[in-house]
Amino acid sequence: VLFPVDSELYVALDIGGTKCAASLGTADAKILSRVEASTSDGLDEWPAAGDVLCDLIYRLLEGSKTQLSLIKSIGVSCGGPLDPTAGTVLNPPNLPGWKNVPLKSFLEAKYQGLPTLLENDANATALAEQRWGAGVGLKDFAYLTCGTGIGAGLILSGHLYRGKRDLAGELGHAVIVPNGPECLCGKRGCLEALSSGGAIGRAGAVAYGDLSVTGKIVIERAAAGDSVATGILMNAAFYLGIGIANLLHTLDLQRVVLGSVAAYAGGLFLKEVRETVSSNTWSSICHDVSIVPSGLGPQSQDLAALAIALSVEDLL
Ligand SMILES: [Zn+2]
Repeated sequence: VLFPVDSELYVALDIGGTKCAASLGTADAKILSRVEASTSDGLDEWPAAGDVLCDLIYRLLEGSKTQLSLIKSIGVSCGGPLDPTAGTVLNPPNLPGWKNVPLKSFLEAKYQGLPTLLENDANATALAEQRWGAGVGLKDFAYLTCGTGIGAGLILSGHLYRGKRDLAGELGHAVIVPNGPECLCGKRGCLEALSSGGAIGRAGAVAYGDLSVTGKIVIERAAAGDSVATGILMNAAFYLGIGIANLLHTLDLQRVVLGSVAAYAGGLFLKEVRETVSSNTWSSICHDVSIVPSGLGPQSQDLAALAIALSVEDLL
């Protein structure tokens, strides 16, 4: 046994569109062990994906010589939409082979009733930021994923705010430019279609006439001084700033924490976001608001799922 028998251990499952990771973590945010599977292993299609997840958990526990009896709960962070109460993944656009998957009951049946909790990735990361990252000590802040899509996890008065239908924080689909670029959701001019990593990549593909250009490549070219790439990034940052300005006017927050692309794109991007926010909000609302990159570091997605596993304490 690698860990003291009295240590409290949690299984954290991060399910994404291209890969899934299972980690063994502790309440103080230590990831002790981690295994990964990719979509090509069968993750993209339910029910085959269920076997992939169970195999991951088996490898995780076997590899770290940890007995199931030492695990307190399983936390799952997954792209939405999902029903956290029922523990059902509905129809995530990044996992088209998953439709109304009863993930909670599936895992609880497999693992002797071990409590399993499910949350969308934006909410899960907001809770992790609140515990260990850029949201520590704050009562009112938002975490914005800025990866393939844009979603917001809202911590209001100290608690995660889900809304009536668990759809709060779908800021990525607030219309910022009426009749603007088409969004994957079917509408036009959504924030996600203007400022996400996916949108930056698509704008880059058009500008360079090269479909293989991704958001990451645009960011790298901007960092190397390419003016076309810089223009695309600044455009994305401007619209993100408008989205955040609207969010601040709605919710009166202390801080906005930015993930993925926004964190990775660096200083110039953040500067443009901050300037746009400040010139599009009342100073009484934004003068002491900080807009900062994620404070969770490279393990943010694993920590997000771990934070969900830890939220089992709220149920006991
Ligand atoms: Zn949309």
